[in-house]
Amino acid sequence: MKIYNTLTKKKEVFKPISEEQVGMYTCGPTVYHYAHIGNLRTYIMEDVLEKELRYEGYNVKRVMNITDVGHLSSDADTGEDKMLKGAKREHKTVMEIAKFYTDAFFDDCNKLNIKRPDVVEPATNCIDDFIKVITKLLDDGYAYIAGGNVYFDTSKLDKYYTLSSHNEEELMVGVRDDVDEDENKKNKTDFVLWFTKSKFDNQELKWDSPWGVGYPGWHIECSCISMKNLGEYLDIHCGGIDNIFPHHTNEIAQSESYLGHKWCNYWFHVHHLNDKSGKMSKSKGDFLTVSLLESKGYDPIVYRMFCLQSHYRKPLEFSYEVMDSVAAGYKKLRNRIAKLNKDGEVNMEAAKEYKQKFIDVVGNDLNTASGITLIYDVLKEDFNDATKFYIIKDFDYVLSLNLTDGEVGANISVDSDLEAYINEMIEKRAAAKKERDFATADGIRDELAAKGIILKDTREGTTYEIQ
Ligand code: AMP
Ligand code: ZN
Repeated sequence: MKIYNTLTKKKEVFKPISEEQVGMYTCGPTVYHYAHIGNLRTYIMEDVLEKELRYEGYNVKRVMNITDVGHLSSDADTGEDKMLKGAKREHKTVMEIAKFYTDAFFDDCNKLNIKRPDVVEPATNCIDDFIKVITKLLDDGYAYIAGGNVYFDTSKLDKYYTLSSHNEEELMVGVRDDVDEDENKKNKTDFVLWFTKSKFDNQELKWDSPWGVGYPGWHIECSCISMKNLGEYLDIHCGGIDNIFPHHTNEIAQSESYLGHKWCNYWFHVHHLNDKSGKMSKSKGDFLTVSLLESKGYDPIVYRMFCLQSHYRKPLEFSYEVMDSVAAGYKKLRNRIAKLNKDGEVNMEAAKEYKQKFIDVVGNDLNTASGITLIYDVLKEDFNDATKFYIIKDFDYVLSLNLTDGEVGANISVDSDLEAYINEMIEKRAAAKKERDFATADGIRDELAAKGIILKDTREGTTYEIQ
């Protein structure tokens, strides 16, 4: 298994700390609203990572937090608690909001075949753990109290920016842009471990602590929940790229200062899903959810397939046109698989060979698009249907696209939307070829092939065949 590690900025061969278990930690949702399909892109790709590890024989223990306190409107520790904003919006208590949106999140995960992590821990369950870690950070001189809050002192570290390739100036933007500069901070990058004073005094959830009644900062929860469930050494920590700074940078700072040694070996980050106006975000208010896709007639698994067809380290733009073509390709693929005759002896040699091919692509920094192309290769093989079905079912453990539970559908004809889409792609490819842009032209051909649409260049022009 090879994965790109944000820490070293390299694709690396994955080496677990222990042969017995791989520890994997995932930053969970802030449950003040529905998850949008951008958040879910991150969780889909983390799910593929977990399942690929399991497929390759690793025993994975995966832990996820639920952020139900402490995540303020700005990641730089200012603004109102997001949970409180959600509660006000809906005239409910914070705990009611947390329960409702936690359940909604796992419903969405279910629909997208995202496995529930082995441990799911709400931040409000772990207040004693936060207090224990903050107390030691204060005792060891890594933290200070100012204006009633406890801050982490980033100047105590030789190297604070361990994860990010951006320069210091760029990273400071988020902090500098912040109008409510926190006067208590000794350094701009210092962050709150425990709040007792905030401009927003109406915080509903508060706990007693050695520093007064208050509540934890956001970053401390992930460090503590990970250490509580996975110990002092962690194999893989995951999140979306917006978590790199400040959240994960701060997690490393406080965890390693507390532990006195390196904490996590691999940092896995999923790039964003964008819509036409930019990054999809909950705070923008207008965002796409799984229920909205369902109400428009899409099977949520089509969205999973949409995500799997592009690489997780590239930004992905959502569009209904592409969803439509993925939906058409998906339907045809499931139909072809459903028509396979499952009776007969499985050729285990062939199955073994294909398992290795799958590991070579999906186990290579999650090249899921090539994993999907392999399914079409299997369908084209000479071996019997039972073997094809067996291999595809095996791949589907990781891809989780419900490929082998389909019913044989009605005869498929090319619907007009799909035809228009293919013709548009053929025209684009012809234009690229004319410009001698063969990379784009080949990209278009491969993109269609991944959907089972095979282009053929003939003397009369380009034709296509749907497999
Ligand atoms: P949140 O619920 O805001 O704490 O975010 C949950 C997860 O979704 C985090 O790992 C974020 O990094 C990730 N995330 C946020 N916005 C996007 C997006 N537009 N595309 C992909 N992942 C995202
Ligand atoms: Zn986190």
